Amino acid sequence: MSQAIAGKVVVITGASSGLGAATARHLGALGASVVLGARRTEQLNSIAADITAAGGKAAVVQTDVTIAADVQRLVDTAIATFGKIDVLINNAGLMAIAPLDALKVDEWERMIDINIKGVLYGIAAALPHFRAQGSGHFINVSSVAGHKVISPGGTVYSGTKFAVSAISEGLRHEVGGAIRTTVISPGAVDTELQSGSSHAQSAAHLKEFYKIAIPAETVARAVAYAIEQPDGVDLNEIVLRPTLQDF
Ligand code: NDP
Repeated sequence: MSQAIAGKVVVITGASSGLGAATARHLGALGASVVLGARRTEQLNSIAADITAAGGKAAVVQTDVTIAADVQRLVDTAIATFGKIDVLINNAGLMAIAPLDALKVDEWERMIDINIKGVLYGIAAALPHFRAQGSGHFINVSSVAGHKVISPGGTVYSGTKFAVSAISEGLRHEVGGAIRTTVISPGAVDTELQSGSSHAQSAAHLKEFYKIAIPAETVARAVAYAIEQPDGVDLNEIVLRPTLQDF
């Protein structure tokens, strides 16, 4: 239990695996009411059942972040179930690594839809509530690839993560004051993300690179640290990576 986190209502997109699932479990154990969104409801229900069995509070909403109405319903369900929304974690993401020459245009579009438009839909759904409450906290998951272009093959993924970082900084400028904005940029973390590349050579390279990956719980703890800062403190940027990672 954490004094500063207990009772907060936290909505998490992409909560069915990886960082989102680990963050939901961690914040649930610290006393937050967590609202989990993703497409795979079986995984969401199982994570929510674990959280409630341990004495926490959780709700599940099937959500495709590429559909604005789905993201709105996720946020509205948090308010209908728990009375408010304190934190929105825009975490859902896809990493499809391939050289531009491979012309994986469908994957470019999916990454743009999930990684950029999904974040914007989250902002659109939560911002009016944050404004009305006079408080709120956006936590947007970028990447070290949002600071430096992954090469070879990471051009479009990095483009989407640079966009997340830019949108987060613009958001901070526009809503700073009562509303907090954190952008978190992890390096290699051991999740399903590394399996999202259909280009065989890039997938093999990633498999090798991810041998140094750190557990998802490390990111969950960083997210909790951002949330538990006292009112008036806005932890804007967190970059964390394995000590063995130079990129
Ligand atoms: P995972 O693949 O384990 O998780 C991705 C999550 O996103 C899943 O819960 C998935 O759920 C969800 N998701 C994907 N597409 C959609 C969609 N259309 N609508 C709703 N949810 C969707 O990877 P991670 O946990 O690693 O990724 C989480 C975030 O962290 C991503 O933004 C990623 O870019 C970022 N990141 C990860 C790093 C890493 O090394 N792992 C490093 C830096 C950043 P479902 O399929 O059920 O919809």
